[in-house]
Amino acid sequence: MKLRLRLTVAYGLLFTGVLSVLSFAGYAALIREQFVTLDRVLVTTARLVESGILRSGRSYALDADTARPSRDGIVIVLRSYAPDGTLAQRSPNDPGLPVTAPWAPLRTPAPPAFWDAVPLPDWLARRDVVDGRRAFGTLGVSGQRWRRYVVQIRRETRTVGYVEALTPLARADDTAQAATRLLLTVLAGTVIGVLGITWVVAGAVLRPVTALTRAARAVAGSRDLTQRVQPGPPDELGQLTVTFNEMLGRLQRAWASQQRFVEDASHELRAPMTVLRGNLDLLRRYPHMDPAERDEVMADMDRETGRLSRLVEDLLLLAQREQDVPLPQQGVSLREVVRTAVQDAQKLSPAHDVTLRLHPAGDPLTVPGHRDQLQQLLLILLDNAVKYSPPGTRVIVRVEGQPESVLVDVEDQGSGIDAADLPHIFHRFYRADPARQRQGGTGLGLAIAQLIASRHGTALFVARTGPGGTVFRVTFSRSGGSSSAAAETHGGA
Ligand code: ADP
Repeated sequence: MKLRLRLTVAYGLLFTGVLSVLSFAGYAALIREQFVTLDRVLVTTARLVESGILRSGRSYALDADTARPSRDGIVIVLRSYAPDGTLAQRSPNDPGLPVTAPWAPLRTPAPPAFWDAVPLPDWLARRDVVDGRRAFGTLGVSGQRWRRYVVQIRRETRTVGYVEALTPLARADDTAQAATRLLLTVLAGTVIGVLGITWVVAGAVLRPVTALTRAARAVAGSRDLTQRVQPGPPDELGQLTVTFNEMLGRLQRAWASQQRFVEDASHELRAPMTVLRGNLDLLRRYPHMDPAERDEVMADMDRETGRLSRLVEDLLLLAQREQDVPLPQQGVSLREVVRTAVQDAQKLSPAHDVTLRLHPAGDPLTVPGHRDQLQQLLLILLDNAVKYSPPGTRVIVRVEGQPESVLVDVEDQGSGIDAADLPHIFHRFYRADPARQRQGGTGLGLAIAQLIASRHGTALFVARTGPGGTVFRVTFSRSGGSSSAAAETHGGA
């Protein structure tokens, strides 16, 4: 069942229940009072007649002309019976009501007039029988109910007769029926109204949810991530809509970046493959190739195979870094990490002078992070520094401990990075100068380095570049989390 329908039904049932109980209580109080008043008048009048008969053998009430209703509009008909049940006297206002045995109600008493329509259990009906000598009964006369009250008159143990007081219930019954009709009409009308209002309100409240569901379904069906849901008022559902839109935006960007990445990766992989296939073809077609030419072809294939494997390795590395769960926050000594990276770089390019400057001396320069990844980041920067600066120049790694952070600079004396290239160098597969592809770069180094930096809550950026060389800088917070430099982000797509 739909949530809207469920809400409506639940609220409708609850409301109907509460309203029914309240209205029934009000109705019962109103109607019951009328019947109880009649019963009270019957009892008092019968008692009056009983005491008259006991005192003087007769009662003036039986003779009185009570044809006129009392001030309350109550008509009381009185009758007295001999001990054997024969009618002795009837009040002048008796319209000729049928005579039945006066003891009938004493044997089978009627329940309270209010309940008369409902078949009540015997014990409840018998509550109205007082000491076995007085009881209420009901007399049906041409479709109308008369309430009767019978008293057995006794002198010591002897029955001297019966007295019976009767009153028509027509007026009270009519009032009860009218009240019932009114109550049911009002109840039904109110319940229908409440159901309608609940349906409308539930629909309005759930509209954003419906819109979200529709949008989510459309996205799932068409993969169209450009869809957005119009946010409603800024309540919880409005916030949900905003969050949903933000999520779609992020998905859209991630999807686009993934698409671009797959395209770039296939493009990058295709180039060395084409060279390899072409060279293989040459070798197959000219098995007796000139040895010098053959060596050249083989060297070419060797170079391309190397490039291919570097590319695959870098792609794997990037994929691994992207899947990394939050890094374990171990203390890593940057002093040691940088020293190892500098030694590796020196071995990589003995033609360069790779110098390390640490400050302050003796400080292990510990930062929370992942040792292998920090080493990888430094190696990428050092690899680039030697790759993009002429042999014989100096590469300086400067590590400076500050109270809250540790700053790492990698400086080279190369020809610098063009201003036009600067915003793109952290993008995957971006190489500033295609001619430099010969340097063997995959265009993934800085993207990986940037990813590692952001995993450490910071950012890698170019602090200075120009004809005199380039400085890459990264600042690590000693306590973890983002450092001030992290504010300067460079998007790696
Ligand atoms: P690559 O594998 O080509 O080195 P990177 O992502 O490491 O890929 O670098 C992207 C581009 O940034 C390089 O192609 C290069 O043009 C430029 N670059 C990186 N480091 C330096 C540097 N130290 N000096 C000059 N240019 C650099």
